[in-house]
Amino acid sequence: MENDLQQGEEEEQKQLIDKKELTQESSSSSSSSDSSDSSCSESDVEEAASSRSSKRKRHPTETQQQANKQSRTHSEMSSEGHAAPSGDCVFCCDDLTEENYVEYRAVPDGPWLKSIYCQPCLETHFIQGQWQKYLDSIAAADCAAALRRVLSAPPPINVKDAGLPCKDNGYNEEVQSFWFSSDKQVHSAKLVGSLEGEARDKFWSEKQAFLTATELQEELAKAEAAKEKEKEKEKEGK
Ligand SMILES: [Zn+2]
Repeated sequence: MENDLQQGEEEEQKQLIDKKELTQESSSSSSSSDSSDSSCSESDVEEAASSRSSKRKRHPTETQQQANKQSRTHSEMSSEGHAAPSGDCVFCCDDLTEENYVEYRAVPDGPWLKSIYCQPCLETHFIQGQWQKYLDSIAAADCAAALRRVLSAPPPINVKDAGLPCKDNGYNEEVQSFWFSSDKQVHSAKLVGSLEGEARDKFWSEKQAFLTATELQEELAKAEAAKEKEKEKEKEGK
């Protein structure tokens, strides 16, 4: 469908776009669209169009995908705007290869960034494990102060980790999507079990109410203890 010449051109354009998006990101964190750029020159339009076409290419049909797998080389792979795997997973220390390499996006249409975690670690410890860890940390909070710390930010929706920096992305620093080298597909960054919309609001207000109740209980207990002490003193005084 596409010849090598086109792919080469697109690679160059994609690199330009990535650079452009990076500079846009650093100047205004909330800008997200291709075409709403106020300084929309002809080359911007061309770049946006090319960006859209390369996005379509990231969702190949199954047959295309199989054909791609058979003929894919390193340089062809990076022509889609993805880097070649290098280094180790910082979680399990396995080599990052085309079988387990992952990239992520900090903003919906932003550049793809290298994940320092391999796909199995990302799936197990983050996508599948992070929501339960959050619930566990709420359950384990044994005083109001600990609970306040756990509930200092609203419930997570997507993967969030210091190892996958998404600084000031306007989405609570949560990852927006993943790209797996193993299937060349974009994957959701939503945590298994995490809540959205009304369910999330309800969960959050329940936790806030629980925090308030815990704080109140602690204050009552403190007041009670102070009273007891006062009584002891009175007894000793007599
Ligand atoms: Zn790993």
